[in-house]
Amino acid sequence: MARTGKVDYHIHYYLDKCANGEMKLENIVPVAMSLHLEEIAIIKHYSEWLPNNKEKWVDWKRIDPEQFDLYLKEMKQFTVPKGIHILSGVETELLDESGKINISPEKAAKVDVILLSVHWMPELEIIREIFPVLINPYDPAELEALEPCWNEVKGDLGCRQIMNAYVTAYINALQSNKQIKVLAHMRDGCDLPERLGLLGPNIDLVECFEPLFEVVAKRNVLWEINSPVKHKEILLQANKKGVKFVATKDSHSLSVLKNRLLIEQYIDSLGLNKGVVYKR
Ligand SMILES: [Zn+2]
Ligand SMILES: [Zn+2]
Repeated sequence: MARTGKVDYHIHYYLDKCANGEMKLENIVPVAMSLHLEEIAIIKHYSEWLPNNKEKWVDWKRIDPEQFDLYLKEMKQFTVPKGIHILSGVETELLDESGKINISPEKAAKVDVILLSVHWMPELEIIREIFPVLINPYDPAELEALEPCWNEVKGDLGCRQIMNAYVTAYINALQSNKQIKVLAHMRDGCDLPERLGLLGPNIDLVECFEPLFEVVAKRNVLWEINSPVKHKEILLQANKKGVKFVATKDSHSLSVLKNRLLIEQYIDSLGLNKGVVYKR
């Protein structure tokens, strides 16, 4: 069984252009072993759909089926050295309130684990009518354009309802998909809502996330942290409710992977419990 703190489930592969060309199995695995990692996941981005039906959106591209097949082939062909366990996996998106995710069950069945991310705001019924949610949250001009629409829902009740729907989307995804093992770059859960200005000043964020803690703990899904967070109280309460955490640097290069100890130390400094995917 892999011991806690000796795993990293979010290592990107060279076939995705966002990853450095050196991120091949023959290079990643020796580095992982030198870091005393006992279990790792090599991750392929997988997005069947992108906002506005585009082929490319911000930093993400639609999946190229041939590339996915090549990824699977290379993972299969690699001879795994003794002392490390390697999982195959995809990083895909949470799409809507029903918990729909951005990979079909048939394709997902070809890998060991799914990492669930939000790279854009999932479609939530409550805000769909008020403003187009699929704006680029990294573009200041688009965020500014959102402001007048946002006035309609501003207020604690509106914020609270949106956060409830956001948390419900996560819960529904976990309940309908057992392959999801990691909530990728989850941090304090507030990154995207905060960026979009959806956190009212008076919302009790811990209370908003409370229903998610239970599902995450019960299903042994790991809560991933890749950098220090603003709302530590959310993590401390999750920990109390039995949520297990996992450190990663969401590595797209070997040098970033080599620096992963910093994030392990951050999790330790908060006193959070760590978990693993596989018990062997
Ligand atoms: Zn991501
Ligand atoms: Zn990633």
